[in-house]
Amino acid sequence: MEQDFFHEGELVAVLTTQPLDRTLDYKAPEGGCFAGAFVEVPLGPRKVLGVVWGPGKGDFDRAKIRFVIRVLDVAPMREEMRLFLERGAAYTLTPMPAMLRLATRAPGLGDPLSMRKVYRMGDRQPDRMTDARTRVLAVLEEFGGLAFTLKELAEMAGTSSSVIKGLVKLGAVREETSPRDVPFPHLDPDWGAKDLTEEQTEAAKDLRAKVASGDYGTTLLRGVTGSGKTEVYLEAVAECLRKGRQALVLLPEIALTAEFLARVQARFGAKPAEWHSGVTMTERRRTWKMVGQGGAQMVIGARSALFLPFRDLGLVIVDEEHDTSYKQEDGVLYNARDMAVLRASICGAQVVLASATPSLESWVNAEAGKYAKVELHARFGEAVMPRMGTIDMRQETLPSTRWISDSLAGKVTARVEKGEQALLFINRRGYAPITLCRACGHQIGCDHCDSRMVEHRFQKRLVCHQCGETKPIPTACPSCAAEDRLAPIGPGVERLAEEAALLFPDARVAILSSDRFGSARALKAEIETIAAGGCDIIIGTQLVAKGHNFPLLTLVGVIDADLGLHGSDLRAAERTFQLMRQVSGRAGRAETPGAAVMQTYQPEHPVIRAILSGDEEGFWKAEAAQREAAGMPPFGRLAGIVLSGSDAQQVMELGLALARNDAAVRAVGAQVFGPAPAPIARVRGRHRVRLLVKAGKGVALQRAIADWVGRFPLKGDLRLAVDIDPQSFY
Ligand code: ADP
Ligand code: ZN
Repeated sequence: MEQDFFHEGELVAVLTTQPLDRTLDYKAPEGGCFAGAFVEVPLGPRKVLGVVWGPGKGDFDRAKIRFVIRVLDVAPMREEMRLFLERGAAYTLTPMPAMLRLATRAPGLGDPLSMRKVYRMGDRQPDRMTDARTRVLAVLEEFGGLAFTLKELAEMAGTSSSVIKGLVKLGAVREETSPRDVPFPHLDPDWGAKDLTEEQTEAAKDLRAKVASGDYGTTLLRGVTGSGKTEVYLEAVAECLRKGRQALVLLPEIALTAEFLARVQARFGAKPAEWHSGVTMTERRRTWKMVGQGGAQMVIGARSALFLPFRDLGLVIVDEEHDTSYKQEDGVLYNARDMAVLRASICGAQVVLASATPSLESWVNAEAGKYAKVELHARFGEAVMPRMGTIDMRQETLPSTRWISDSLAGKVTARVEKGEQALLFINRRGYAPITLCRACGHQIGCDHCDSRMVEHRFQKRLVCHQCGETKPIPTACPSCAAEDRLAPIGPGVERLAEEAALLFPDARVAILSSDRFGSARALKAEIETIAAGGCDIIIGTQLVAKGHNFPLLTLVGVIDADLGLHGSDLRAAERTFQLMRQVSGRAGRAETPGAAVMQTYQPEHPVIRAILSGDEEGFWKAEAAQREAAGMPPFGRLAGIVLSGSDAQQVMELGLALARNDAAVRAVGAQVFGPAPAPIARVRGRHRVRLLVKAGKGVALQRAIADWVGRFPLKGDLRLAVDIDPQSFY
């Protein structure tokens, strides 16, 4: 920034959250303002949020330039944050207003500091409980010490505010007047440190030294499931807190936060700030403001927490760094792992990428020395990695409506009889992926997408997994009207549970699938019940692969290990490898040794063999060699161009025009493939066409692409999205 402070009347350039392709000039308000100040400015008849980006451009009639209305009472945006947004925008080809929206996703930022009434758990139990009262208390219980406004609490509990007022009278809920946005409780880095194993101690020491250096650096923390990666990186967090800097821990799944919060509390004596879709608006705003003022030492959150206005960010942990949910697939297309590295490199922070099965990108970066490497080899305590095996499905005789082979069933029974738990894994939600008419062959599809509707028997509906549309399960075929000829084809978790109930009539079967639980609370409760031994057989989707501890679980049976291998996806092998290793890592975490078996029709497949042998280095080397030979990421660069619109022909014509006029990208040595209809050629009624741009590693691809696509004005409802480093190609 050339200039820090602007006196009243001086021209300032303001970046707003409105979709304009430039900053707008305003006059600094009475009292002046700093660069980075959050301001309210007039735009047409409206008032909009903006940030003072620098001196005004002065290319507009000065007489018409209006004054900034007011400066908001929040810490100004730091220069490093402005830089982060600019570089992030340049990397992902995202317009700046959209970046600013990511950085200001907290309601009521401009509200003045004031007192308001909040509600917390009281200390008396009401004599008489009603459903509504139970729900209110359950919400307060779930969120521990957090306070809610009356409106929020009523909404979350699904009750009227009079129920809450009633509970206040009874002393079961406490009403307090509190200033808005109080700091988070102090975290003590020396509170509950555990005795680490020798290997863990070394790893922790290594990370602590890096954090203490105060410089930027990225470390890949690799270790099998249960080796204590979390314990180790919490020591890095402790060091960061000792230095008075802030730490951010990114988790791939909100369902994991409850367990994690408890661990943080045990380690540091209090809970950190949270930032994800499961926290209330009041808490979001509090977190946003406190992070900026230094009233929050640690944040745990989803990927968008990277855009919080940290005052002094010293450490970012990306847990399960290989997880695909770190890539935002909607709106601004960014990969939180890469953005974490970018942000840290700007503000002199350390990044720790933790995983049992890193992404190939991170593995290659670590091999090349771009990232440091810290490894944990042993599982904590007695636990050893499970024995791995396959069941050759060509040797099994199974009717077409059954998926659990006799071999697998035998293993399950043996475990359950010993009082242990078995997990049957299938990465498919619902009852059956296809509903087929046996009379005419029609498969029921979504009306708005080119995708099949998935039967969810539990909800008694068909669901489109693309757009979420649901409809009742018909009795007659929508195509030929034949009655009672519709048949479910293939298994999902619900159907597998049905089969398990038949095969193991005395066992208690539980389903763990993200769509089965209305709230994070219900899911958490179910996970706790299962962990405590509340069921014998778990039927689960990839939700179970992520970090939950089930101490009684000793057998993992993968129903269809081939499922992920069929795809033509660049990362099919990598994903299958990661998923299978992760799922099997669920077995035998405590003292009982575990086993994992995969049902497969191709036991000779190199990926299946690599999973079996556990030769991770070998797998990555082979995978890396293949990608390198093909010039694919991370050895080359890819960008996806996704065009969409309601008129199929117009969309394809735009695709063809782009492909014909690709000189701007060819100039940097890039190749353009396509256009081709996207694998899912219609979503929510919009037709989709894809192009793929492939280039060498060192190529300044973004600038070339911006130049290329910028020449094509978008008519009507046509949309063009650029996906740099695409992770999915649907
Ligand atoms: P990872 O993150 O690698 O999967 P965790 O950090 O979750 O591993 O550790 C697995 C389990 O072992 C957890 O329950 C954790 O509390 C426990 N654990 C790991 N290391 C220690 C230790 N040094 N002392 C006590 N418990 C430990
Ligand atoms: Zn749909």
